[in-house]
Amino acid sequence: MTSQPSASAISPETPVRAPSAVPVDDAVIPFEVSTLDLRGRLTRLGPALDELLVRHDYPVPVAKLLGEAIVLTTLLGSSLKFEGRFILQTQTDGPVSFLIVDFRAPARLRAYARFDKTRLGDAMDSGALLGRGHLAMTIDQGPDMSRYQGLVALDGGSLEDAAHEYFLRSEQIPTRVRLAVGEEWRRDGNGPKRGWRGGGMLLQFLPKASERARQADLDPGDAPEGSAVHTVAEDDAWVEGQSLIATVEDIELIDPDLSGERLLYRLFHERGVRVFPSQALQAQCSCSRDAVEAMLKSFVPQDRSGMVQDGKVAVTCEFCSSVYEFTPEEAGVE
Ligand SMILES: [Zn+2]
Repeated sequence: MTSQPSASAISPETPVRAPSAVPVDDAVIPFEVSTLDLRGRLTRLGPALDELLVRHDYPVPVAKLLGEAIVLTTLLGSSLKFEGRFILQTQTDGPVSFLIVDFRAPARLRAYARFDKTRLGDAMDSGALLGRGHLAMTIDQGPDMSRYQGLVALDGGSLEDAAHEYFLRSEQIPTRVRLAVGEEWRRDGNGPKRGWRGGGMLLQFLPKASERARQADLDPGDAPEGSAVHTVAEDDAWVEGQSLIATVEDIELIDPDLSGERLLYRLFHERGVRVFPSQALQAQCSCSRDAVEAMLKSFVPQDRSGMVQDGKVAVTCEFCSSVYEFTPEEAGVE
């Protein structure tokens, strides 16, 4: 089935307005291109991303990789209902051995990366930084709901590759993802100022007739030699959607002067794009003195006594670097 371009792509009951020229940072914009059965989300991150990355003084390649993981998490986690939690983690054998991004709906983000400085090169791409291992995505919708975990193998590819693999194998929804992170230099009254920016787009093909969602790039697997290769023709609407998202440049995703709405309009205006209200994002840790104290008390007594140094127990939150100090009595050390 082919979707025809049409001048009446926007139905009369849809309010039509010009795309906002005002860029909004730290937000996710859901959108829809109904003439192509496409749905998506666009993330733009500025100050919140900078706060998450600068807090740890990461080397540039590590900050960029963690930034990409944060952008990906906002694209995937922002569809959760209130109170839900989405956690993206990687565990791999590369210089960056562990990444975690914790998103608590509707807005709170925290993240950190563990890495080996001695193994870092100057211009390593995300695949080389991660190495081999796996990526896990956990969705926790609260105590009354079961936890869901999806796993994808990481095999030297990027986080974009891993997201594609995940949607192909687990969700079976035709999906494309773009992620970009960069450092911006701006001159203000106090001289040049640098800051991290990130942007990303997720595009999904969700036709009403499920047979239209067949995907071409399924691995043929262990088919015996000589057997006919089963080639699948992808739906024209999805072919068009993929070619449109492929034209998005990194700079467009992170450009502080290009509004998200303008970017969406630039891409999809011929087909008619509908933009829904954006969701704000913020960098905010969820640690607390009470939670750390409860965690300490869950350890066996001999472990607790081993934590006393200089007459106190100090615990540092790995996400936000907050330090919580307790007297041995408070920490339950006998
Ligand atoms: Zn914290």
